[in-house]
Amino acid sequence: MTMLEICDLRKEYRTGRATLHALDGVSASLVAGRTLAVVGESGSGKSTLGSIVAGLETATSGTVTIDGTTVDRRAFRGPLRRRVQTVFQSPLQSLNAKFRVETTLAEPLRVLLRMSRSEASTRVDELLDAVHLPRELRHRRPAELSGGQQQRVAIARALAPDPDLVVLDEPTSGLDQSIRGHIVNLLRELQAERQLSYIFITHDIDVAQAIAHDVIVMQHGRIVEEGGREVLTAPTDPYTRRLLDAVPTLDPARRRRHLRLEALPAAAVPDTPVGAAINPPSAHPFDEETAP
Ligand code: ADP
Ligand code: MG
Repeated sequence: MTMLEICDLRKEYRTGRATLHALDGVSASLVAGRTLAVVGESGSGKSTLGSIVAGLETATSGTVTIDGTTVDRRAFRGPLRRRVQTVFQSPLQSLNAKFRVETTLAEPLRVLLRMSRSEASTRVDELLDAVHLPRELRHRRPAELSGGQQQRVAIARALAPDPDLVVLDEPTSGLDQSIRGHIVNLLRELQAERQLSYIFITHDIDVAQAIAHDVIVMQHGRIVEEGGREVLTAPTDPYTRRLLDAVPTLDPARRRRHLRLEALPAAAVPDTPVGAAINPPSAHPFDEETAP
């Protein structure tokens, strides 16, 4: 079932006399439980698109509907505020440096789900389990966590209110190469467990390959190519081909090693081609993400 419908979206920024078309008529849709990867060079409008879907920006024209509800500021004061969550490149955008992990995770539970203190405390442990972090980390502050651990906490925070759609804006771009695959694996696992829909914004073609069901390629605020994951292996548009050419390795075996992807049960990600799976899972995914 289509959960997200984006129709002829435009966003203009006026800078002096010039008008910049950050989005110039973008239409797309997303079926529940799938990942729409949004790829394109810097400045192509990816974050603008994500911000409008997440209710953080208002479009100049066009519509976004989520399960039939038109997305606007008013809708985000209602149930959409719980149903649509975001994860950014920098975990520190979602995490308050002063708060311990438990406070960060309990806040959306108390505010959006109106949980009692003790209910929220139990849920905090469950959320840490879900993102494979040791429960003891609930007492730490962001500065006492590694980059990978911080991003896991940011993901746990996004999951806390039990959303349907998560907008992820370059969630792996600030991480070391070795940690990226772990985070991609985690996001795939959470999607399968919770039937989440993702908008996954990235300029990293390898990461997009690993997580996308559907792909849109953006340039100057427009979609220049769209389709399934094959868009990223056999592009027809010259711009997409140039984007791919900028990737150092496109050899699938090398890409898998480099991303350290883990196998998921075939049923969980039905259209993952056999062989797109991947390296043996490490015993403790957070081992390599020790605090500085
Ligand atoms: P991407 O995420 O693909 O790098 P963005 O959506 O951030 O692209 O930006 C698209 C275009 O809109 C860029 O040219 C950017 O400079 C411009 N832009 C984004 N936000 C603003 C803003 N608040 N004011 C003016 N221009 C903006
Ligand atoms: Mg961006």
